Amino acid sequence: MTPEDGRGVRSDPPSGTPVGAGRLPSGAAAGAGRLPGEPGNEASDSDGAPAGALAGPLLDEPAAIVAVVGRPNVGKSTLVNRILGRREAVVQDVPGVTRDRVAYDANWSGRRFTLVDTGGWEPDARGLAAQVSAQAERAAATADLVLFVIDGRTGATDTDLAVARTLRRASRPVLLVATKVDDERAEPDVAALWSLGLGQPYPVSGLHGRGSGDLLDAVLAALPEAPPEREEEGGPRRVALVGRPNVGKSSLLNRLSGETRSVVHEVAGTTIDPVDSLLTLGGEQWRFVDTAGLRRRVRAAGGMEYYASLRTAAAIESAEVAVVLLDAAEPISEQDQRVIAAVTEAGRALVLAFNKWDLVDADRRETLAREVDRELARVRWAPRVNVSALTGRAVDKLAGALRIALAGWDRRVPTAELNSWLAQVVAATPPPARGGKSPRVLFATQAGTRPPRFVLFTTGFLEAGYRRFLERRLRAEYDFTGTPIEISVRVREKRKRAGSR
Ligand code: GDP
Ligand code: GDP
Repeated sequence: MTPEDGRGVRSDPPSGTPVGAGRLPSGAAAGAGRLPGEPGNEASDSDGAPAGALAGPLLDEPAAIVAVVGRPNVGKSTLVNRILGRREAVVQDVPGVTRDRVAYDANWSGRRFTLVDTGGWEPDARGLAAQVSAQAERAAATADLVLFVIDGRTGATDTDLAVARTLRRASRPVLLVATKVDDERAEPDVAALWSLGLGQPYPVSGLHGRGSGDLLDAVLAALPEAPPEREEEGGPRRVALVGRPNVGKSSLLNRLSGETRSVVHEVAGTTIDPVDSLLTLGGEQWRFVDTAGLRRRVRAAGGMEYYASLRTAAAIESAEVAVVLLDAAEPISEQDQRVIAAVTEAGRALVLAFNKWDLVDADRRETLAREVDRELARVRWAPRVNVSALTGRAVDKLAGALRIALAGWDRRVPTAELNSWLAQVVAATPPPARGGKSPRVLFATQAGTRPPRFVLFTTGFLEAGYRRFLERRLRAEYDFTGTPIEISVRVREKRKRAGSR
């Protein structure tokens, strides 16, 4: 693709940039993406449904986004590298891909934010001033904070003045940065930049680091409250053993416990069990949650299924990973599907265990393979183990499957890596056009783990089909075995020029 296509991950909109639909069509919440609310932003989800998805405290909130804008050669890249402490290698240029928006994970005083370097100049496209202004406008629409970089040695140029006008109209906070101020001799010139009407100029030397600490303190002060990191509980990882009645949950728990007495036939309610069971599998301790019910075999005369499903939901909720047990000797049922859906909807890691393998003959194995293909396509990514609680077959494989699923659930893709991957995918297969214009994917960030949640910043709505395509590609590139992943979209629009403030 050529840089003129206007479809890749680029910072400069072609003239007449499409303004995405102000609201996402209803149904946007379906499929792969949850659509988090957008505090203080113009584009938002339409139907309010995602509110329920935000039950947790801001878990889907990505780190705050800081965009760096400015003319070529003023020292943006040098400043970015200074802020990153060069911890993160600059992304390689990929041939054929416009790489003009690079996002990095940054950290200052323990606060995480995403730094977006909006370089990328097309030689002889439109005038430089127009390009930089458009870029600044885009950045102001996308970011939580804009760093407007000016060469402190040359002072503000006409282009800088034009950009300053754009940024003064933007409703996002802007910090004015004067670079190349390597010593105090250059400081007096910096004071002249107050005249741009963007507040105090921050003199820095990206090269030597001078002033960068003060700048970063100001950055943090200007950012919205950091989303709270989810507390990671220590101790053994929490596993739910779930499945429809009679698939062999009690038997498997019993087998895993290495107990000789049969829990299966235990009289109900004779002992007060602890709610969870600590089991050692594969040389590691695991907390199997809510196993009291399995041990006790509470059998209410009526409504048993109802209580079983309540118990299932509660166990999944308190677990990190669920082992869904299926009866390999019987067809995969609607009820099995419901249990699996409960796990993925709760965003937990998933392992599928086919029990009663001792009853499976060659014929059944064949039909089961077809059933799995047909019925379990949605969770193709889940590790599968074939076990027998009765004979103990392969139960030692469970620990490995649990570890793999949890590793995927915990996985975080660094922002820079994610974006260079995304730029290639989107360049090769752009989102389908709607109303003649293809929405552009500006950049992405992984907002959270457990399960992995991705947020794509775009100029327009991305259809569920395209988000599923991205999910498939993401899974092909990174190892998300055993975990659901969420991809949500935030549409950011160019601000209207007149009267928007
Ligand atoms: P960008 O195009 O805005 O990303 O600018 P660069 O970061 O590539 O910098 C352009 C030129 O200015 C390079 O030759 C840098 O070495 C130089 N430069 C950048 N920051 C500083 C600085 O703080 N002090 C000095 N003396 N030179 C700098
Ligand atoms: P739960 O309702 O899921 O807890 O299932 P149970 O553990 O009570 O098992 C239901 C029935 O399946 C019992 O009769 C078990 O003996 C039997 N069962 C459990 N696991 C196996 C297995 O691996 N092979 C065979 N053949 N039978 C099993």
